[in-house]
Amino acid sequence: MKKKKKEKKKVRLAMIWDEVKKKLVNSASFIQDSEVPFHVANLDDLHQKHIRWLRTLPRVKPFYAVKCNSTPAVIRMLSTLGTGFDCASKGEIELVLSLGVTPEKIIFAHTTKPQSHIKYASTRGVDMMTFDCEEELLKISACHTRAKLVLRIAVDDSKSAIKLSQKFGTKPSVVKKLLERCKELDLEVIGVSFHVGSGCTDSLAYRQAIEDARHVFDTVLLGFQMKLLDIGGGFPGNEGFQIQFDEFSKVINEALDEFFPADSGVQVIAEPGRYYVDSAFTLAVNVFAKKVVMDDVTRIRGVYNVSIDHTHTRHYPVVESGEKRYRSIIWGPTCDSLDRVTATYWMPEVQVGDWLLIDNMGAYTVCCSSDFNFFDKADIYPVLSAQTWNMFNLS
Ligand code: PLP
Repeated sequence: MKKKKKEKKKVRLAMIWDEVKKKLVNSASFIQDSEVPFHVANLDDLHQKHIRWLRTLPRVKPFYAVKCNSTPAVIRMLSTLGTGFDCASKGEIELVLSLGVTPEKIIFAHTTKPQSHIKYASTRGVDMMTFDCEEELLKISACHTRAKLVLRIAVDDSKSAIKLSQKFGTKPSVVKKLLERCKELDLEVIGVSFHVGSGCTDSLAYRQAIEDARHVFDTVLLGFQMKLLDIGGGFPGNEGFQIQFDEFSKVINEALDEFFPADSGVQVIAEPGRYYVDSAFTLAVNVFAKKVVMDDVTRIRGVYNVSIDHTHTRHYPVVESGEKRYRSIIWGPTCDSLDRVTATYWMPEVQVGDWLLIDNMGAYTVCCSSDFNFFDKADIYPVLSAQTWNMFNLS
């Protein structure tokens, strides 16, 4: 009986991606029975991304940024593939450890941490953590004397969709004073990190940031064994990411060779989030209402409860090409008038009961969703091809 159940699960997980999409959207019974939005998470896509990462950035070990999408199937798959993990809180560390990841594969990459979270990291043997100010050092010295510290520096993030350096990272003028403070507190500093901002559009931002990190390594005359460079996140991950990713990688590899050559003994890691998960998730949302205004505005079930990330562009209903299109507004389901997904979108006429598919919904969506008004959050269906299943001997 148990075996039968397992077999059934295996078959469900092993369905091929395109078939899954087609099946879910065309299944009459599914459409009649449910209005709840759902994601299909294509775990093969994570595998493909990982292969590309290893091939393109061979010197950079990825520590997946859990904040971007903490779906357990995603963490398990990446753990199977061998990535490390960037956690930002006690909860993220708990999750990752509970899924079998070992503490040395985790970097606690939040520069401002509640004291209780630092204590938790200490008890669980998570030693690597970032900091960018003196107050953080005082907390760490009180709670985690074995910590291996990584100094986060502020870098130019002007070419990124989501800027981080106003809130995080220390300015060059403060670096020396902070490192002296580490010495006084007898804390170990092992390296430097930065983040060029999420949704970066300019490869040269990485080059400049790597050069900035080199300056920090060079000004450290305090006897620290600096051996880690963490180049953060910011890498593209949506459909068609390849060209931009290859361009970024070329610039990063050249900058690493120039400022941190392989024989420098410096280990290089990164904290990609969006890169791994963005294209792996497709969201299906049900149209539960429609309002025609002057014959050209369509109101549909939107996605407030699954939260759209800043960089989203594509929403489409499954329809034949060549149909007449109408200027439409896509609204979310809630009572909040800010709950608008797109202001203007040209789409074929949709009917109540139709389903819309939205690609590239893996990054900062599931994790930021809310159940405001008690609308259901989207279910998540992870799928994996039989080939990948067998390759990793999953069960
Ligand atoms: N690392 C840190 C410290 C971050 O704050 C973020 C995103 O905010 C990431 C990594 C992941 O960035 P991305 O999704 O752009 O790769």
